[in-house]
Parts: sequence; C-alpha cells; structure tokens
Amino acid sequence: MIEKNVYRGETFSLPVFQENTGKFIYEQLIQHSSKDQVILVNEQTGTNLTCGELLQDSCKLAHTFSFYNLEHNKTIALCSENNINYITIVLGALYAGVPIVFINPNYTEFELQHALDVTKPDLIFCSALHLNKFIKLKFTNRFIKKIIAIDSNDKSSHSVGLHEFINEHVDTNLVNLNPKIRNVDINNHIAFILFSSGTTGLPKGVTLTHLSLNATLAYFLSPEMSSEQDSDISVAILPLFHIYGLYTLIMALCRNRKVIILAKFSPETYLGAIEKYKISMLITVPPLVQFLLKNPMLITVPPLVQFLLKNPIVDKYDLSSVTEIACGAAPLGKDIAGAIKKKLNLRLVRNGYGMTESGFGIAVPPRDVEIAPGSVGRLIAGLSSVIKDTSTGDNLGPYQKGEICIKGPTVTKGYYRNEEATRNSFTEDGWFKTGDIGYFDENGFLYIVDRMKELIKYKGFQVAPSELEQLLVSHPEIQDAGVIGIPDNDAGELPLAFVVKRPNSNLTELKVQQYVAKFVSHQKHLNGGVVFVDAIPRNPSGKIIRRKLKELLNNKKSKL
Ligand code: AMP
Repeated sequence: MIEKNVYRGETFSLPVFQENTGKFIYEQLIQHSSKDQVILVNEQTGTNLTCGELLQDSCKLAHTFSFYNLEHNKTIALCSENNINYITIVLGALYAGVPIVFINPNYTEFELQHALDVTKPDLIFCSALHLNKFIKLKFTNRFIKKIIAIDSNDKSSHSVGLHEFINEHVDTNLVNLNPKIRNVDINNHIAFILFSSGTTGLPKGVTLTHLSLNATLAYFLSPEMSSEQDSDISVAILPLFHIYGLYTLIMALCRNRKVIILAKFSPETYLGAIEKYKISMLITVPPLVQFLLKNPMLITVPPLVQFLLKNPIVDKYDLSSVTEIACGAAPLGKDIAGAIKKKLNLRLVRNGYGMTESGFGIAVPPRDVEIAPGSVGRLIAGLSSVIKDTSTGDNLGPYQKGEICIKGPTVTKGYYRNEEATRNSFTEDGWFKTGDIGYFDENGFLYIVDRMKELIKYKGFQVAPSELEQLLVSHPEIQDAGVIGIPDNDAGELPLAFVVKRPNSNLTELKVQQYVAKFVSHQKHLNGGVVFVDAIPRNPSGKIIRRKLKELLNNKKSKL
C-alpha cells in the first residue's frame, strides 16, 4: 500500500560510508591535515593539539581498550566541559567499537547516578573538576572499573591521567600508529549514547548507530552544505555532550578546520575569539543570538527599545568577519532572526531543526535559496516525514498541522535498554514520533509551530518535567506537583512548578526552589517560580493535564 502525504528529503549527493565511522573520520583527518597542523586550540588555557597528536592518542586509546574486554554490550562514559582531549576519547571509542555515553558535566551527583543506572559504563573519562564526584560514586557503582582524568596527568589511588592510561599497554615511543579499527555491523552497532527525555518521563539514553552518524556526515559534509566563503577556523562554544555541539565539532574537523575550543562561555572570550580568528560562520542556539543582539541585562525593557539600544559588550568587538549564523536546538523567533541579520549585516541566518533522537538534523534551510521566514527548511537527505493528526493518526496534507514523525537511516533505533520507551516512541508503522507540532508547505518547507511533548528547553538544554515532579514529591511536605515551562526572553523557557502542600506545611516558594537546587543542575532550577495550588489537574489514568496548568497560570496572571 502506498502511504499518502509522505515528504521526502533529497537523495545523498555523497555516498554514505559503509564501515565504522571512526575509519571515516580517520581518513578525513589523514587526507586533509598534516601531522603537525594544530587542529584544536583551547583558547582559555592556551593549550593545543596537532592532528598527529590527536591521531596517535586516539589510536593508542583504542589499543588500550582492547585490554578491557569492552564488548559491544559494554559502554564507556565521557563527562567533561569542552576540552581539546574530548575528541580523542570519542575517536578511540569509535575505532574500538565501544559505545560511548555523553554526560553533562554540570550534573549533580543525583543526576549522575541516574545516568550511571541507565548506562552502567565500565570506564569513566572526566575532567579533573569532576573527579571527586565520580570517585565517590565508584564506591556504590561497582561496575566502574577505572576513572580517567582527561585533562590531568596526576595519578591518585582512585584515578589515572589520560596519558598514563593510553600508554598502559602501548610502547610510548611508538609513532605513526595505525588504528585498530573494529569491523562493525553499522546498522545495529551503537556508536553514541546521548541523553534525552523524549516525549515523556526521565532522561533516557538515545542510541545512535554508526550508520546514523555516517548518514549525517554524508549529508552535512556534502558540497551543498559547505561554502567556499567559510573561514577555515570554527569556534566550539556549544557543549560537546549535546548532539549539536558534538557533531558540529566532528564536521569541522572532517572539513579540515581548526577548532577553537571554549570550555566556558564568557562574553569576552567568545567575542574575542570571533574577532581574533575572523570567524565567518557562527554555530549558535537562540540565547546566543539574543546575546549578540542585545544586552542581556536589559531584558525588562520592551523589545523595540531593546533592539534600538546597543549592547556595550558586543559592540566593543569587530564582528564584521561573520557572514552567516546557523541556529538550532530551540525555536528562533522570526523577528530575532531578522534583527540579527540586520545588525551584523549577515548574508544568511539559518534556523535548523533537529533532535538527539533524529541523529542531529531533521530539516535545515538550503544555503543558497532564500526561504520563507519562519521555516526550518527542507528535510535532510535520506529522511522521510509525515504529519500525523494527533487524534486520528491520519497523515495530513500541506499546511495541515500535526505531529511531525520521521523515518530514515539517521533516526535512533531506540533508548538504551528501555524497550517500553522505545516502543512508545514509534507509531505502529515505524515512524518516530518527535513530539513537535508542525506542517509542510506545498514546496516541502517545514514549519514548527508548537511542542506537544513534556520537554522544557532552557537555553537549548533539556529539562524533563517528570524528573522535577518526582523530585518535588520526594519532599516530605509536598503531596503533589506538576511542572511546566514558561516563556522567557533570555532563556527561551524557565521551569515553573505547581505544588500541592501537605496539611500544616509552612513551605514557601524559596524553600521549594532551594530544595530542587540541592539535587539538580542549574538549568533545571525552578527559576520560573513556584505556584501553590489545591490540586494538580490529572486525567482518569493519573496523567497530568499540562494544558490545564498553563490555563491556571494565565488565569492567575489575568487576575493580577
Ligand atoms: P534536543 O534533543 O535536546 O536537541 O531537543 C530537540 C527538541 O528541541 C526538538 O524536538 C524541538 O522540540 C526543539 N527544537 C530543536 N530545534 C528547533 C527549532 N529550530 N525550532 C523549534 N524547536 C526546535
């Protein structure tokens, strides 16, 4: 039976690599860069890594992994701020065919425990800053065999430095090592595991196969997606534990670009790096665009006034090299896109749409075609999509709004060791449900209009309402709780909690906020506030009716 109203991306203009992704990246690096070419620079510490050092360290690492019996059903984890050694671990794991789990370094011990429960890594690679958290967790998580500090060579009784670890089984003087690249079944072999809460529930491990990565790289490295006008240097400011930061870094290296790594956002280092290296294309998320546009201190000023006011920090730097901005991970308003284009005199602002589960991109605006404002472009190569009516499940036609569902080689096969969540995220006919609402126009351009899943996005970071709700009801004075995201100029959305107190409780908004802040990282703090209510609206099966919570808030506001 031919399915109706299926939208399809173009065919690939570059062949999709059919072996281990590590081999593909290795070949790109060998082909484009000389051994002594500096390809990764840590702008804040002044340290750097040459192509030769990256290749040699990652080859040795893969060799060392072979002594740890890391079969495909095992994992290793990486938890660090952006760091020049980050990609060494990624490449080593790819060559060895060991699935690698990416963990947010801002996670508290409470959140780390959940990540460890889901993925049970044998080895932990982390920055020195987070060693103590993992050393403590190792006592109760006996599956952890070793902790390796990726930015230090200090040895302690509980951890080793990266170079000591990679030289453990390799002759230190060995140069020109060829990687031992494991043959993998690219269709099924997991390359990466990244966290996402999907449409509901707690953060889960999204699995992405070598095929998924190869297909993404084939599309984004194709000539249509690159431009001769691009400078040969990129800035990596987005966090590498998120698919957007990680993949754009890998792509930059495959394109023979030098990458300036920024471990932490500071206006001066970010703007200084753009000016110093004459960066032409910025990879951003909406809050970064907001930052470039206006002074974040002035968010209480009406938008028009904000637009007219100059940002004293941004305006101190020469950003005239920037000709293009790519933006993703959260909605970018049409007016913001237009305003930044005008302010920086840009050729192009491209608002792409993707998600961790789609293996990076779903739709991106073509580089050389002017598209209607507000659209996120056309489907990437190899991907198909249908818009499903949210009540009947029927496929809808152009301009009809419904849930965006996708199929293709880049899409996840499911959540790590979580069959139920995997089953629930696909339709019976195999479409992955994004939880986003949108429509296609008659030219195949996609528009995102809403989000039906529970997810809150704070500055592009995921916040899962269920995680906060579970935490809130663990408080002895809280009977029930429901969490929603409220719009915020600066962050996109802020988490806000509705709380039902137990009888005789004297909880205050501040006490609830402090309780949450004790357990979870800053993006999940209840900066949207706390509203005390008598009951949380639930349907007969006990599910929170979030729409009603939003209505409740609007009613309260209109009464003020
Ligand atoms: P993540 O897996 O963290 O990348 O989050 C993916 C989700 O972010 C998507 O399902 C959307 O809800 C949202 N998102 C990403 N890009 C866009 C965009 N360009 N416009 C609107 N929402 C977006």
